[in-house]
Order: sequence, then C-alpha cells, then structure tokens
Amino acid sequence: MIAQSQSQEELRDLYRELILDHARSPRHFGKLDGATHSAEGINPLCGDKLKIYFSIDADGRISDAKFEGSGCAISVASASLLTDTVIGLKTEAALDFFSAVVSRLSGRMEDGERPLSKVDLGKLIALEGVKEFPSRVKCATLAWHALNSAIRNESETVSTE
Ligand code: ZN
Repeated sequence: MIAQSQSQEELRDLYRELILDHARSPRHFGKLDGATHSAEGINPLCGDKLKIYFSIDADGRISDAKFEGSGCAISVASASLLTDTVIGLKTEAALDFFSAVVSRLSGRMEDGERPLSKVDLGKLIALEGVKEFPSRVKCATLAWHALNSAIRNESETVSTE
C-alpha cells in the first residue's frame, strides 16, 4: 500500500502545481468588453475581491469569460480554472459545474442544487485539496458563487459573509 499512498501524494503535488500555475499566470484575466453578464464576489475573511464577466450569446452559450480583481492564490487560481472551464459551455452546464464544485468542496448542498452525477470535474478536482483547510473553502468557491449570481442575474455582488 506504500506505492498507492506515494502516488496519491504525487497526485496532490500535481494539483498543487496546477493551482500555483493558475495563481501565478491567471488565464482570461482582465475586463471583458461587451460582457452581457457580470458579478462581483467578495470574501471579507481573506480579502478576496473578484469580478467575473461573461458574454452569453442568444442561445445561452458562454462565448467568453474573464475576471479581474485581487485575492489570494486559491481564489485567483479558482477563478482562472473557472473561466477556462466554462467558455463554450451552455449556462445550464456551467451551473452544473457550480453546484458540483460547491457541494464537493463545502460538503453541503446549496440552493438551486442540481444532480451532480453527470458532472466530470476534470482538472477542477485540483481545488478539492482545500477541503483540508475549511477557511480556504470560501476562497476556492468565491468565483463560482459569482458565476451563479451573474448567470442567474440575482445580484451584482455576492459576499461569503
Ligand atoms: Zn482567499
């Protein structure tokens, strides 16, 4: 069983690398001109403040996504992974990712929860490492709550507190 635990450790190192890579070199960073939907996410406990922009076309597909703001490595990496993931998706599929990520990381169900079985988290599974650090879960899910708010047009700003 030593071999197995070693490989799990290697996997965790890879995930850590992926998070650090996205934190150092965020994808799709900046303001999105012509965005149709946007929302700001604030996590006062950590000081993360991110704004996420989406261009959603007439048939409900996310044609582009960007984010700006500042935050800790985990919040920035999560927003970077989010934009990487949802570009090209229908909004319904993006909301499925929101539900899957939030429930996976926080271990509880949120309002508007959808069935999770059909969602393959792919590289987003890298975020799961924060489960060991409950105070960082809000950092990792911040961008996802902003996505949910932007797509549903519920409010301009979401706060974790
Ligand atoms: Zn944070």
